[in-house]
Amino acid sequence: MASIKNVKSKKSKLSNEDKENITVLLQTAKEAGATEVIYIGADEVVVDDRVRLKCFIPLCRHYGDLVCPPNVPTPDEFRRYLKQYRFALLLSTEYINPPKPKSLADSEEVSSEIRTKSTDLSDILLKLEGVSLQKGYRFAAGFTGGSCNYCDSCVKTGGECKTPYRARPSMEAVGVDCRNIEKCGYGFRISGQRQSQMVGPSAR
Ligand code: SF4
Repeated sequence: MASIKNVKSKKSKLSNEDKENITVLLQTAKEAGATEVIYIGADEVVVDDRVRLKCFIPLCRHYGDLVCPPNVPTPDEFRRYLKQYRFALLLSTEYINPPKPKSLADSEEVSSEIRTKSTDLSDILLKLEGVSLQKGYRFAAGFTGGSCNYCDSCVKTGGECKTPYRARPSMEAVGVDCRNIEKCGYGFRISGQRQSQMVGPSAR
C-alpha cells in the first residue's frame, strides 16, 4: 500500500480514520493508472490571483468554456471554500514524448490523441472523487489541470454541457498555483510531460 509521510501543516491534525482513508485513496489512484499521487494539507494549496489573470492575458482560447473563467469560482471564492477543507490529493500521469503534428493535415488526429490521454486522467480523478464520497467526504470535489477535454470543442458560455457529470473546473481557473506544490518537498513534479489534476480538497 502507498504510505503516508511528510506530516506537517493541516496534515498533522488528520484523524487516524482520515489517514486510513487516504491510504486507500492513494492506492486507488495508483491502481487506476496515476503515475504519481500525493496528499497535502489543504493549507498547502497556494491560490494566486495572477494564475487566473493568465487565463485572459493573453486570452486563452478556452476562456468562456463552461468549466473555465468566467464560469467558475473566483480565486477569492475558492480561498473561502479551501479554508473548510483539511487535505487535498494531487495526481498526475506521465505522457512521454507527446506527438506533435507534422502538418495541418494530421493536427486533428494528434490533438485527438492528446485529448484521449487527458480524459484518461480525468477519469481517474472522477473515480477518486467517487471513492472519497463513498468514504463519507461528502464535499469532495475534483479539479482538472487545464481545460476540459471531453469534447472536441466546448459549447461555451450559454451552452449546455454535454457531459455535466464528468466535466470539472480547471484548478488554474480558480487560481491554484500548481508549481508551488513542487516546493513543498513531496517530490511531486509538474513538467511538460505530465498532466496533473487535483481531487478534493476533501472534507466531510
Ligand atoms: S464536457 Fe464538453 S461541453 Fe461540458 S465543459 Fe467539457 S468541453 Fe464543455
